[in-house]
Amino acid sequence: MENDELIPLSYISQYHYCKRRAGLLMLEQQWGESTDTVKGTAEHQHVHTTDVNVRGDVIVLTDMCVISKEMQLFGRCDVVEARKERQGMCFPFLPEGRYVLYPVEYKHGKLRIEREYELQLCAQAMCLEEMYGCSIPKAALFFISSHRRKEILLDDTRRDEVRQTAGSLAQMLADQKVPRPVASARCIRCSLKEICQPDVPESAESYLKRLETGWGSDDV
Ligand code: SF4
Repeated sequence: MENDELIPLSYISQYHYCKRRAGLLMLEQQWGESTDTVKGTAEHQHVHTTDVNVRGDVIVLTDMCVISKEMQLFGRCDVVEARKERQGMCFPFLPEGRYVLYPVEYKHGKLRIEREYELQLCAQAMCLEEMYGCSIPKAALFFISSHRRKEILLDDTRRDEVRQTAGSLAQMLADQKVPRPVASARCIRCSLKEICQPDVPESAESYLKRLETGWGSDDV
């Protein structure tokens, strides 16, 4: 990939929610608020300040910047816990000792299984691994309303999916093509529904143009 522009790693999650949504956000800088996005922003406030706190044997870093040149991703981790462990390693930003890093991503609402959240979290861990040469075997999602954590094993399947998604996003960025809408149950809660217009039939002119140029094809 010649273009080495970095992509926000939260788009990993957006892409799995809907490819078109990721395209509208990344290529057209579109944004729309919904009840979910407003709640999410409000509930995230206390982890969106860069800070370091010590809680017993655990050092809690909030709003930590991460980057992966390999995957062309950058972003922020809500929380990274540094846990003192013998099999860990030393980090330049931590006091003396050996630590294992454990990212925790905050999500609004109640405990639930969302593949896209797991991949976003895995991408954060992979960025940290690339930055510091460490190994992060697991991480957690924290659901704010139910105040519960769900631990996620960062296995090869998730890691492969993150790499593939990062590649698809980089390709979309290089092609500058927003995928066509595919109406689904997810559109009901999508904050970009008004902009996206998933139920409006495609015009004959745009259909022919798409056939000619491959513009907006869904196999991005
Ligand atoms: S409205 Fe539906 S098709 Fe359009 S971006 Fe949202 S989820 Fe995707």
